[in-house]
Amino acid sequence: MVDPALAFSTSVPLVEGAPNGLEPILGGALRQKAVWVDEAACIGCRYCAHVAPNTFVVEPDLGRSRAIRQDGDRDERIQEAMDTCPVDCIHWVPFEDLPALERRLAEQELQPLGLPSPARTRRTLPRASG
Ligand code: SF4
Repeated sequence: MVDPALAFSTSVPLVEGAPNGLEPILGGALRQKAVWVDEAACIGCRYCAHVAPNTFVVEPDLGRSRAIRQDGDRDERIQEAMDTCPVDCIHWVPFEDLPALERRLAEQELQPLGLPSPARTRRTLPRASG
């Protein structure tokens, strides 16, 4: 008869890339939800990047926040960053939705935030009189 305690002591070699039961989609040890920034709604205030800097980075070209990794900060800290967002554009989404969300983001033509408007760049200082 096999000792059931073996289930807790036998090591199983992990093959890279092979399913191991720890995948979030299988309900494993990793987080099942992913964090996602709706960049079209982001106003670039940077609050989230200050609260959870290992997760959120303000993308330099567009000036909008992006979640650069899913395991950078604890859930509580990410939730705190979400709660500080003034436009409520950070969401928990199922991991399996990320590819479709990324495709939809790539299709959008977002305008850069925080750059001077064309009218402002044409303004000049008043000439000194005299
Ligand atoms: S807190 Fe919200 S609005 Fe501000 S940078 Fe982060 S995602 Fe954008």
